Amino acid sequence: MFVSDSLNVNKEGHLTIGGADTLDLAKNFGTPLIVYSEDGIRKNFKFFNSSIQEYYGGNGRVLYASKAFCCKEMCRIAESENAGLDVVSGGEIYTALSVGFPEDRLYFHGNNKTYNELEYAVKSGVGRIIADNIEEIKTLESLAEKYGKKIDVYLRVKPGIDAHTHKFIRTGQIDSKFGFALETGEAMDAVRECTKSKKLNLCGMHCHIGSQIFDPSPFVLAAEVMMKFLSDIQRETGITITELDLGGGFGIKYTENDKPVGLDGYMRPVSEQIKKSAEKYSLPVPYILLEPGRSIAAAEAVTLYTVGAVKKIPNIRNYVSIDGGMTDNPRYILYQAEYTVLNAGKADALPDTTVTVAGKCCETGDLIQENAKIKEVKAGDILAVLTTGAYCYSMASNYNRVERPEVVFVTDGIPRTVIRRETYEQMAQNDI
Ligand SMILES: *Cc1c(COP(=O)(O)O)cnc(C)c1O
Repeated sequence: MFVSDSLNVNKEGHLTIGGADTLDLAKNFGTPLIVYSEDGIRKNFKFFNSSIQEYYGGNGRVLYASKAFCCKEMCRIAESENAGLDVVSGGEIYTALSVGFPEDRLYFHGNNKTYNELEYAVKSGVGRIIADNIEEIKTLESLAEKYGKKIDVYLRVKPGIDAHTHKFIRTGQIDSKFGFALETGEAMDAVRECTKSKKLNLCGMHCHIGSQIFDPSPFVLAAEVMMKFLSDIQRETGITITELDLGGGFGIKYTENDKPVGLDGYMRPVSEQIKKSAEKYSLPVPYILLEPGRSIAAAEAVTLYTVGAVKKIPNIRNYVSIDGGMTDNPRYILYQAEYTVLNAGKADALPDTTVTVAGKCCETGDLIQENAKIKEVKAGDILAVLTTGAYCYSMASNYNRVERPEVVFVTDGIPRTVIRRETYEQMAQNDI
């Protein structure tokens, strides 16, 4: 009935997540509130693990893309589900290490890691560093010398694939700030640069072709392009690369218009392609890494808001204002992201009105959704925005000095706070 299996309606007609009543949650924890189903998150990890098992003989690992939603509890869950983490900053590395996450299962990405971040990663023994540019390779060489360590390095490659998705989240093509281009020879030059240093162990290649991709074919194509590159590397340098990180970007359902193929829809054809290409190029079948972010976290959360002002502008539109907005979910203002919005107290009632959900910030563009069809709400009602588990809290800000919301995980129907609501004091704590 809903865009996510973690959601349901109880006999009072209230929306539930992970078995917990959202109206009770709003009352007990306050709003805005982001609520996750821990069971749902774990189920997604297990699904990825079992599909690597089934289609690829278990010869790989899931790396959760922390940027989708990073906090200590999320790192603990990823650890216990045997996943690694894709981290992109010193802050994400710190969060993972602070809960004892095994450093060898951290994969450090990013198009402009600072010297301090790279040094922190090398000193902490982060498992793999995915170099994005020549400067980074040079910095890694000097850090390897400085600390007398051998560093396991991947290269981020642009496979030149145009995945059909929003242009801001399309990254596989040549005009992208991420990675080394194949077509121009830049990627092969980077391989040679790495092999010059005895301290860098070039063991893998990485690509990530975009996000919220529904069509499996660009993933299959990327797998073939990358395998061909591994073959070119072997021929030109004699090095056999044994690890292949294919990134994330698997599409999920935000509204009924989204039609994801399901993970099997990617894993089966991609696995087949890699094995076929390995045979064609006489290469060993590489260890693979998948980096789902959105598809682990997005559908397993809802954001609960309390409705304030309802403004009906005749023949124009009806505004429903809520007690959060772009500060806890900037995805609409960034890329007009679509969401399903519900009157949480009448979750099974048919929609009878069309509204624009507006945040409380001093920006006309601070909207969560336009033309959302919902069961009418009035001041004091709880509004639920579904599938807000990825790229919402992690992109949250203190614009207008609005405090970041509380985050709650529900396990077996029981909620617990995993991130406390920010306080005014905390927002001002670095001010002098
Ligand atoms: C963003 C990103 C991911 C995760 O993308 P999703 O669309 O959330 O699955 C994985 N890997 C890299 C390198 C990324 O930049």
